[in-house]
Amino acid sequence: MATSTAFKSRLKEKENVAEGTMGFYFAKPDGFQFKPGQYIDVTLHDPPETDAEGNIRSFSIASAPEDQDLMIATRMRDTAFKRVLRMAPVDTQVRLEGPMGSFTLHNNSAKPAVFLAGGIGITPFSSVIRHAAKARLPHHLYLFYSNRRPEDATFMNILNELAQANSNFRFIPTMTEAEKSATTWNGETGFINQDMLVRHLPGLQGPIYYVAGPPAMVAAMRQMLIAAGVDEDDIRTEEFSGY
Ligand SMILES: Cc1cc2nc3c(=O)[nH]c(=O)nc-3n(C[C@H](O)[C@H](O)[C@H](O)COP(=O)(O)OP(=O)(O)OC[C@H]3O[C@@H](n4cnc5c(N)ncnc54)[C@H](O)[C@@H]3O)c2cc1C
Repeated sequence: MATSTAFKSRLKEKENVAEGTMGFYFAKPDGFQFKPGQYIDVTLHDPPETDAEGNIRSFSIASAPEDQDLMIATRMRDTAFKRVLRMAPVDTQVRLEGPMGSFTLHNNSAKPAVFLAGGIGITPFSSVIRHAAKARLPHHLYLFYSNRRPEDATFMNILNELAQANSNFRFIPTMTEAEKSATTWNGETGFINQDMLVRHLPGLQGPIYYVAGPPAMVAAMRQMLIAAGVDEDDIRTEEFSGY
């Protein structure tokens, strides 16, 4: 079991990363090390308001270990924690605990990695894919990324750039409600399914599959993969409980 430690940190910057979705940059505490795919618990100190869920939430680290700051991204729902986080001024002190989790890339680079992300479930894969480019990992990476509309898709631009820059990385975004977008969408549409995987992967057997997102999405993807004949041992999942 990995050990996790508590650290003091401060908010350095915040930005909009998709419609209704914000990225928050925290100072990386001295000695803080993590593997792409791991998460932290963020605790707010003395928030002006709180609710039954308390002052603490888990977030995957969306930045790469090589990046200067620790970045998280979250859907800004109307909960006390997120209202406080949204309004928090730069330099606000927070407590970070971590890193935690074992949702990390396998070592054997002969096996491709297939990432299935539902909405904000992109965050752990964002870290892995950014790291893969910086560290020039030999792994072949495929990201299937499902959102309602392009406007909702966090990190769309950076993911497109990474796909251009890293020939080992294939990016397959899909929109489930493209008709509700203000823009024209020419990519894949509908939920990630077996047919979509077959069209983009060299083979269904062989890769390690990683699924992250809301629990219902994770359950649906696991079922789909098993029905497609993927060995359960080759499926790893991270549920964003709370969605
Ligand atoms: C390992 C792990 C990694 C995670 N990584 C991330 C991440 O990278 N980014 C991220 O955003 N989240 C992540 N989460 C989830 C995160 O911890 C929160 O649970 C989530 O962001 C919801 O927080 P909240 O304050 O919006 O809602 P909470 O106050 O935690 O909501 C609790 C419950 O209230 C209900 N609820 C509240 N608001 C709404 C609403 N507007 N619509 C419908 N139901 C509602 C939901 O049923 C929910 O179950 C992760 C969770 C885990 C366990």
